[in-house]
Amino acid sequence: MLESPSLDALMSYAFECAPNGAVIVDADGIILRINAEIEHCFGYARQELLGQSIEILLPERYRLAHMAQRLSFISEGQARMMGARRNLSARRKDGVEFPVEVGLNPMTTQQGVVILASIIDISARAAEEAALRESEERLRAVMENVVDGVLTIDEQGIMQSVNPAAERIFGYRAAELLGRNIAILMPEPYHSQHNGYLANYRRTGDAKIIGIGREVTGRRKDGSTFPMDLAVSSFHLAGARAFAGLVRDITARKAAEAQIKFYAEALQAQNTELQRSNQELDDFAYIASHDLKEPLRGIHNYSSFLIEDYADKLDDDGRNKLETIKRLTQRLEDLIDSLLKFSRVGRLDLAVQETDLSDVIAAVQDSLAINLRERGVELRVPRPLPSVRCDSVRIGEVFRNLIVNAMKYNDKPVKWIEVGYVGAQPLDGEQTDRGKTTFYVRDNGIGIPQKHLDAVFRIFKRLHSRDKFGGGTGVGLPIVKKIVERHGGRIWIDSQFGEGSSFNFTLGSET
Ligand code: ADP
Repeated sequence: MLESPSLDALMSYAFECAPNGAVIVDADGIILRINAEIEHCFGYARQELLGQSIEILLPERYRLAHMAQRLSFISEGQARMMGARRNLSARRKDGVEFPVEVGLNPMTTQQGVVILASIIDISARAAEEAALRESEERLRAVMENVVDGVLTIDEQGIMQSVNPAAERIFGYRAAELLGRNIAILMPEPYHSQHNGYLANYRRTGDAKIIGIGREVTGRRKDGSTFPMDLAVSSFHLAGARAFAGLVRDITARKAAEAQIKFYAEALQAQNTELQRSNQELDDFAYIASHDLKEPLRGIHNYSSFLIEDYADKLDDDGRNKLETIKRLTQRLEDLIDSLLKFSRVGRLDLAVQETDLSDVIAAVQDSLAINLRERGVELRVPRPLPSVRCDSVRIGEVFRNLIVNAMKYNDKPVKWIEVGYVGAQPLDGEQTDRGKTTFYVRDNGIGIPQKHLDAVFRIFKRLHSRDKFGGGTGVGLPIVKKIVERHGGRIWIDSQFGEGSSFNFTLGSET
């Protein structure tokens, strides 16, 4: 039968197997015994520690101070704990330091006073605490600095925490809010609605108040109200459910939105008004021109009657004056016809359809073939033009006007005109208008001075005396511009005075 162990043996066994490190030192600090955990923690073999001074287990910088403390401790003879708060560090054999919690127990034995020290490696706990402190610190920094107000409430709606942004937004100090119902931050009807939500939640567990980015109205301490975005989430704290509200004052955003809306509406109204007055102007030009023609025709006819019926009663001077009246009425009629043509472009409905522009150019070229030949102008089209959606008759008019001008305003011995396009993909050095196909009619004619590049699009604007370059009424380019713009395009000129011009335009809203 096995012998039962003695109490001493049992105590030794408990000492050896204790989960904490345990060391027994004598009054001079010499290590008498250690347990297995000490070997494990400090990385020493038992024989390396027995007989050594206890300071071997401390970082060198603490050893002297520790000796002094040890002596006073022995004289006090009181058992006590030394906690982590004192930031105790121990040192492993390999020099690595680690935090410990130490309990000291002086005991009087047959060999005199000895001290039983229990040493717990608290590295893991210290690391956990540090991590917790760090995340608390981070959370605090976020809460302090975030621009949104953050408030937490319990199930009853009582405010538990508010951050500085919330204080700022609502105009309260935190102390004035904590412990009060969140409903004070809401005007009616949100006030009752919110209480209703909470009551309903308490009854049914249905957390209707939870949601992201709801737009509600807040109430400041001074009673004023403001629009705010509210996002609510819920969480559990010590077994109870709580809610966190994220609040953003959107007064500025709302004001900006209202301003934008106001301007957009004003712009829309102006546009409508502009369209209406443009239309009115076109209508007026049309009616006025139409009505002006009749008396004009009368003046013209009566001048003719006078010349024919009173030939024998008129001297040369009188006849010349009547001829001048006839010429001027003719000129006025031409101008009125131009005005009529111009106003008609604004009144016309466009017949937009898929159109092969090569066909359009070919037709224009045919109709102008004789004039081109007579004037000795070469019209070249380097590559076929693409198909686009447009009113083919009007765009034919555009090309025709531009080609006729290019033909007219050229004083070079060798004259040429080139019609082409630059694709939406920009080509080397070519000009494009925001990724749209750009069509051009180019010539090596007289060119246009830079300062007149815009003026030539004004109605009746001519850069030359009436009869120079074959005459004209100055309405061709205004009509071209109007047609291009009615197609949603833009027209502009590149020109080198004395060397030639390029009339460029886009059509529609390609990307
Ligand atoms: P019109 O040709 O009847 O005078 P337009 O409106 O077609 O009227 O042209 C206005 C003015 O622009 C012309 O009088 C001319 O001075 C100038 N112009 C037009 N096209 C060209 C061109 N290709 N080269 C040089 N000048 C031009």
